[in-house]
Amino acid sequence: MSTPTTLEAPERLRAAGLRVTVQRVAVLDALRAHPHASAEAVHSSIRTTLGGVALPTVHGILGDLTGAGVVRRVSLPDAGSALYEVQDEFDNHHHLQCVECGRVEDVACAVGEAPCLHPSHDHGMRILEASVTYRAICSDCERNK
Ligand SMILES: [Zn+2]
Ligand SMILES: [Zn+2]
Ligand SMILES: [Zn+2]
Repeated sequence: MSTPTTLEAPERLRAAGLRVTVQRVAVLDALRAHPHASAEAVHSSIRTTLGGVALPTVHGILGDLTGAGVVRRVSLPDAGSALYEVQDEFDNHHHLQCVECGRVEDVACAVGEAPCLHPSHDHGMRILEASVTYRAICSDCERNK
C-alpha cells in the first residue's frame, strides 16, 4: 500500500533513531520492492548486490528494524515463515491471502481507520487495532482448479 508520505530508506532509518548502514538500506529497499517477503526472500534478493551477506545477518537486521518499528512482521496462517513489510507511520491495513498459492495483497481497513472492527465484548481492554487476514482463493488458483 503506497502512502503519500513514504520516506526514502535512509530518512526512515534516521527518523527511527537507527544508524544508516548499507545493509539496512538494502533490506528496506528490498521490502519496498517486494512487500510480504520472508527473511529468505530478502536474503536472496540482496545477496547479489551486497556480496556475501549471510542469512543470519539478514535475520538480525530484520529483528532490529522490527524492534524499532520500521518494519512490521506479519504472521499469516498460510505462510510457511514470518513475512515482513515496511511499516509506514499511521499505516494500518489488512491482508488478503490466497490459501492455495500463498499470494498476499494489502487491503485498506474495513471501516475507517484502526481499530476498524470492534469485538462484541472487549473484556475491559482498550482495542488498539484489528489484525485481520482474509483467507481467499486468487483468480489464478480458481482457474487452475
Ligand atoms: Zn492463489
Ligand atoms: Zn501488508
Ligand atoms: Zn482495520
